[in-house]
Amino acid sequence: MRTVPGRTDRVVVVGAGLAGLATALRLRGAGREVTVVERGPGPGGRAGRIEERGYALDTGPSVFTAPEVLADTLAAVGEKLDDRLELLPLETSYRAQYADGTHLDVHADPEAFAAEVAALCGPAEADSLRRYLADLAELYRLQLATFIDRNLDSPLDLLGPELVQLARRGGFGRLSSHVGRYFADDRLRRLFSFQALYAGVSPFRAIAAYAVIAQLDIGAGVWHPVGGIGAVPRALAAAASDAGVALRYGTAVRELETAGDRVTAVLLDDGERLPADAVVVTADQPWQLVPGLRGPRRPVWSPSCVALHVGVRDELPGQAHHTISFGESWRGVFDELTREGRPMTDPSLLISMPSRTDRSLAPEGGQVVSVVAPTPNLDRRSGGNPDLDWTALAPRYRDELLATLEQRGWTGISDAVEVEHLDTPLTWAQQGMAAGTPFALAHTFGQTGPFRPSTLPRRGPENVVLAGSSVQPGVGVPMVLISGRLAAERITGPVGR
Ligand SMILES: Cc1cc2nc3c(=O)[nH]c(=O)nc-3n(C[C@H](O)[C@H](O)[C@H](O)COP(=O)(O)OP(=O)(O)OC[C@H]3O[C@@H](n4cnc5c(N)ncnc54)[C@H](O)[C@@H]3O)c2cc1C
Repeated sequence: MRTVPGRTDRVVVVGAGLAGLATALRLRGAGREVTVVERGPGPGGRAGRIEERGYALDTGPSVFTAPEVLADTLAAVGEKLDDRLELLPLETSYRAQYADGTHLDVHADPEAFAAEVAALCGPAEADSLRRYLADLAELYRLQLATFIDRNLDSPLDLLGPELVQLARRGGFGRLSSHVGRYFADDRLRRLFSFQALYAGVSPFRAIAAYAVIAQLDIGAGVWHPVGGIGAVPRALAAAASDAGVALRYGTAVRELETAGDRVTAVLLDDGERLPADAVVVTADQPWQLVPGLRGPRRPVWSPSCVALHVGVRDELPGQAHHTISFGESWRGVFDELTREGRPMTDPSLLISMPSRTDRSLAPEGGQVVSVVAPTPNLDRRSGGNPDLDWTALAPRYRDELLATLEQRGWTGISDAVEVEHLDTPLTWAQQGMAAGTPFALAHTFGQTGPFRPSTLPRRGPENVVLAGSSVQPGVGVPMVLISGRLAAERITGPVGR
């Protein structure tokens, strides 16, 4: 593994999102002097939080998986997860709601889940489910070792017995065909392939290896951090601060000062200069900040989303913590999002109501609800649409989303809204995210593993390292936490493995 040459005692981390905080904890644990600079008023980045009239709205991730990665991150400074955060395992990871009026509760307990599948889809499908869950766990084990949990400098790094096994298990075929070989029931096919959208690709084009995303949620379970997902960056920041990391909020890094092949200091918006032996950049488009660094040559950006977060004065009885609400249309949804550049006409939505589990998030008699609706991004070459006028579309889209929720069982939600927040591709673009998507480079085969930008770029200053969803291993909370470790190891060398 390549590492940063020369002195690396003082490190500045740009960004206090989950990747930046994870990097800082790892570096501090290895004895570096670390300063984190964040332009926002507090930690979290995309894992944002709005508090208004007693409602706590998490504006980023809602599905929290793989708590072991978070525990491992805190352990870098000798901390225990339990001392910083309470995580509640969700008995029902998701409720899958279908257009034919049926629904399926995905239980964390595999036998309870199989019983539910047997009741809805028949015993043969329940047997397939048991085999499929075992297959997913093994696929994940193989991929963690090859693609995910390590720095990759070259495709040759992948060569090994795990890659051969991955190929033998059909990991490089199409996801839709892979899932189709196990399940005859279309409802189960959808349940095990919609996660490809998290990876930014249609299941009809994604390779089967992305089936493992379902291992993270359906296979291994979903947790709720008490206090909401916003409590996760706050816990990491508190642990970092207690371990001696300096956290600077409310000031942006304007420029990196260089001498020869190295960055020597970080210049802040407020005029301050922070000397640095190494710098870790976690911004979405690091090439805008790092001199000599180039963006990917022919990037394919993930689809974007509209995210509507509301605090409502209504109990909304009967709704689950997380619901995947499928429309009638399926292949058409992916065509609209990734080829035709059109908002979904018959939407499939992720609807989360964390206050169902955690009453601290809403006032008495109220709930918080988040709806994430995938949309095209703003880049035509990625199948997106730069001509969609989101300023004009946003209010209509908001109304349509609430009307869809009314039709699909959240009766009364529209009239009960007390506080709300809406993000669209335009908002993400204004926050500096490429192609107006918060989901970065899609996980196409050519942008995964060694083909995704490295944590240690070959161009630009030799002491600049990258972390976050734009680089290896990829998008999502567990992945960016892992990227923090990979980035830190570019500076310290491998730690504890
Ligand atoms: C609506 C939505 C839903 C999601 N749902 C899920 C989910 O359910 N499950 C899941 O696992 N993931 C989900 N994700 C993805 C997940 O949130 C992200 O992959 C992850 O939070 C990205 O973390 P990061 O640290 O890489 O980037 P960021 O959080 O963007 O952190 C980068 C930080 O750098 C700061 N910064 C940038 N430039 C500068 C500068 N020049 N100076 C100082 N600071 C700077 C930014 O302000 C930001 O705080 C979701 C994301 C969104 C937006």
